Amino acid sequence: MPGAASHPTLRPLGLTRVQFVAAASERGRSPSKARDEYKALFREGKPAAWFAEPGVELPDYPVSATLVDGETSKFVLRHEDGLETESVLIPMPRSTGTTTTLCVSSQVGCAMGCHFCETAQMGLLKNLRADQIVHQWFSATHRVQHSASRAVKNIVFMGMGEPTDNIDEVIQSVRVLTDHDGASVPASNISISTVGNPDGIVKIGELVRERGFHRLNLALSLNAPNDEIRTQIMPVNRAWPMARLKEALVSFPRFSQAAFCVEYVLIPGVNDRDEHCDEVCAFLRDIRCSLNVIPYNPRRNSPWPAPAEASVERFVARALTNGQFTKRRGTKGRDVMAACGQLGNEKIRQRKLVHDDGSSQPIKLRISTREATREEQT
Ligand code: SF4
Repeated sequence: MPGAASHPTLRPLGLTRVQFVAAASERGRSPSKARDEYKALFREGKPAAWFAEPGVELPDYPVSATLVDGETSKFVLRHEDGLETESVLIPMPRSTGTTTTLCVSSQVGCAMGCHFCETAQMGLLKNLRADQIVHQWFSATHRVQHSASRAVKNIVFMGMGEPTDNIDEVIQSVRVLTDHDGASVPASNISISTVGNPDGIVKIGELVRERGFHRLNLALSLNAPNDEIRTQIMPVNRAWPMARLKEALVSFPRFSQAAFCVEYVLIPGVNDRDEHCDEVCAFLRDIRCSLNVIPYNPRRNSPWPAPAEASVERFVARALTNGQFTKRRGTKGRDVMAACGQLGNEKIRQRKLVHDDGSSQPIKLRISTREATREEQT
């Protein structure tokens, strides 16, 4: 291809249709053909022959595992550096029939260190590029045979990683996934979940202000009634205490009646008492939100068991009595470690940060009291 070497690597899965056509035109491709090629890639899973040429990268990572527990599937994609992303396909029964939700990862591992989370055991191994995030949707749609064999309807950024810790790539992936000429997933069917980085919430809010993204959903992983308990189980709370989090939520742009989703992993003996429930409801009182109570899924070597069904029911009933709109979320995928907070491949838990140039070095992860930071080991 003439002049290909002088162009940056073209990654079709990381580009919107407009960006792709511009990049293809710079390489001497016809814009109208490029438009068709973009559609064929996203809609039919068919790459154009020239995507195999030097200067173009179309990941076609092998699906290294597909586990099914009867309804939920977890699939693992092995990257060329040996690291793996994990994604989960979850059938969701609705009044109109069952739909499929895809839970995507934004990082391999995670630096946030939440004590109840399997992924936290890995540390952060690498940030995913937008095309690597979109590739999970591409695989789920065109490559992975899953029991549901239905098209992915909803996408939630709740897999491995904290999306606001890789926010630019996450936002670019949302632009690609919502492109009408490509994946065409409505913004209202996409949720970004965060532990509550206020700066990240502001950036998501900026995207939501753009035309076409007003109905993008934000979910917050709260998990505690107050700063003391939240800091114990989520070290990031030292950097971003609940008052700052609330400010960010209150100023988040709202264009629809849709409520925030606030996730609350119920952990026995930690955050499951009646007074905890009352405190959570008081904290959420002036925020239009749905409180999703999620029974804790014990990670490997967990210090806590799963909560008793009776305590989950009591917590939910009390929240409802307090006037808080509350749902109990089912725990799907527990058998295959695909449930909430359980993603993370044991075999790749080397504390190794992989840089864009492919080099790697061990790192120590630390959340300081002022900022969440990653420190290189000396
Ligand atoms: S719960 Fe989410 S933010 Fe916390 S360590 Fe796990 S993946 Fe990271």
